[in-house]
Amino acid sequence: MTDISAQLAEKLGQRFYISGLTIRRKLVSKLDGTIKYLFGLSDGNSVEAVVMRYKYGNSLCISTQVGCRMGCKFCASTLAGWVRNLSPSEMLDEVYTAEEDTGEKISSLVLMGIGEPLDNYDNVLHFLELLSSPEGENLSLRHVSLSTCGLVDRIYDLMKRRLGLTLSISLHAPNDQIRGQTMPINQKYNVETLLKACRDYFSYTGRRISFEYALIEGVNDSPQCAEELAAHLKGMPCHVNLIPVNPVRERGYRRGSRQNIFRFQKLLEQRGINTTIRRELGSDINAACGQLRRETEQNDASQKRGNLPC
Ligand code: SAH
Repeated sequence: MTDISAQLAEKLGQRFYISGLTIRRKLVSKLDGTIKYLFGLSDGNSVEAVVMRYKYGNSLCISTQVGCRMGCKFCASTLAGWVRNLSPSEMLDEVYTAEEDTGEKISSLVLMGIGEPLDNYDNVLHFLELLSSPEGENLSLRHVSLSTCGLVDRIYDLMKRRLGLTLSISLHAPNDQIRGQTMPINQKYNVETLLKACRDYFSYTGRRISFEYALIEGVNDSPQCAEELAAHLKGMPCHVNLIPVNPVRERGYRRGSRQNIFRFQKLLEQRGINTTIRRELGSDINAACGQLRRETEQNDASQKRGNLPC
């Protein structure tokens, strides 16, 4: 800054800093233009974000925490635990950096990267306020989806705010027995409590719930699971997004055959449940949520020890 005195500039420099993200890695899909970023934060940590290109515009998936403490067994983001929350400005910086790098505005945003948004609740709310401000990014919250593993108390709080966003619930199992094995949060809020919160959320806000269901071979993809899921969701205005699970090396979970996935979808649809199978974008740069960060940090650590990265 050349329009202030040297003395003031020095004072400002001592007391404040201008944050900003750096692009540590960038992978671009040759198949569909999907871009996966590893953003470096000012304290040396890193998080991931993904730009997906659709006919209607670009959708950006951002991280809300460095690491995660929810411990879902199939997820790479949680393997090394939680490090810290992202600040509202760091989340905004993910948006600005992606827009600057692509030279294109984003038209929708999903909070589905690393972290549990409702475990960083105040910062996420502040971020959404800044994001939707006409003086800022001016993105309507109608174009925002927030995904949670199911922190029920916060779902009720969010409901009362009527923000207009889409609530996505990572359900991934039709009963406590399976969900309890794959998602530790189920010990605190079981399937019944979570689904009741979803019904209440719809009654209060009129916003249809979107359920995420990652199909894991031999764990939650049987015809009985589909029938049980359909019975739970019967009559609830909702949508189920079926995701062939992204294999994470450390976890050993596998996705079933396409045939199995279609069978699961058919059983739900026959029972009147709306479903989609998540379109796989960027399959040539495919890294499950949190894997790019994990690989990079492991390589950095082995280089520090003098080993060659594998
Ligand atoms: N913590 C939030 C958002 C981050 S994860 C949540 O749990 O919803 C975004 C989505 O990816 C969630 O539905 C999560 O369960 C899912 N996910 C994580 N690891 C996955 C994997 N290996 N394969 C498929 N989906 C996965």
